[in-house]
Amino acid sequence: MRTVGEVGMTEKIMPTLGPDDALVRTTVAMICTSDSHTVHGSIGPRVNMTLGHEAVGIVSEVGSNVKLFKPGDRVVVGAITPNWLDPASQGGHSSQSDGPLGGWKFSNTKDGVFAEYFHVNQADANMARIPDSVQDEAAVYCADMMSTGFMGAENAHIPTGGTVAIFGQGPVGLMATAGARLRGAGFIIAVENVPPRQELAKYYGADLVIDHTRENAVRKIMEITDGEGVDSSIEAIGSDAAFQNCIKVTKPGGFVSGIGYHGDGEFVHIPRTDWGVGMAEKTIVTGLCPGGRLRMERLLRILEMKRIDPTKMTTHKFHFDEMEKAFEIMDKKLDGVIKALIFFP
Ligand code: ZN
Repeated sequence: MRTVGEVGMTEKIMPTLGPDDALVRTTVAMICTSDSHTVHGSIGPRVNMTLGHEAVGIVSEVGSNVKLFKPGDRVVVGAITPNWLDPASQGGHSSQSDGPLGGWKFSNTKDGVFAEYFHVNQADANMARIPDSVQDEAAVYCADMMSTGFMGAENAHIPTGGTVAIFGQGPVGLMATAGARLRGAGFIIAVENVPPRQELAKYYGADLVIDHTRENAVRKIMEITDGEGVDSSIEAIGSDAAFQNCIKVTKPGGFVSGIGYHGDGEFVHIPRTDWGVGMAEKTIVTGLCPGGRLRMERLLRILEMKRIDPTKMTTHKFHFDEMEKAFEIMDKKLDGVIKALIFFP
């Protein structure tokens, strides 16, 4: 029995399939910072739940209603696997289907993907076939990192040629930087203090990287935008302070896009006067990683056409039986880890 604060290996019975579902044999998975949050209880107690929500694999079995996939297909499955029949999905908010954040099922409301086999609900809508030219090690980034990071840029409504400031260059922040570049930002400012992440920020499209431990990021951003602020800002840390900085540096009429996981504290604060006492037309948009087949297919196309190479973020590789070691490295952020890839037998 394992509960909050504990990670280990366990034997489980094979999941059973409903008519719309699929069983996938995992080939490559990645540990996410939110897996560490889950271990430490931030989404509440979870007992004996299989962790992980970022994986690619081979279809092993499909239910009788599944039309688009057959055993042997190489697929990526979104970290978020919405219930597409839910009213929230019909309203355009599929990640919120089956309740707030309810599209997030793996390692939240059901067993996750760090297993030899995992279950996919509504398989036709939640998996995508991986093009031959795209390697598993790249495709696995579609599940969460690219989907969430790009959502950050999408929700930021960056005007073509506009300015954007992105706070935090962890893997999701880096993909927000890449997304801002792909969407035609004119000037991209990244805020990050860890040197390898600063380097990657430049690689993925940042024109300027500000080390907030050496200078005041807000002051610097206001200075280089002639006191105007940026069109859009993206909060990719899950820090109250960074969120407040986003409000401060975003010009009136601009967008603050939140993709951080605010796992601590009771409140996230809005600085009142920088908020234009509530009247500066600064829009805050938040979201949870979008899932679904079409989303995954678009992200795979970006990889197929070599628009970006997410594998530059893979700093560590482990085999499935080294999972506990991989978790320790990810959990304590040891050895300059950005993303840890897990190979399955
Ligand atoms: Zn994740």
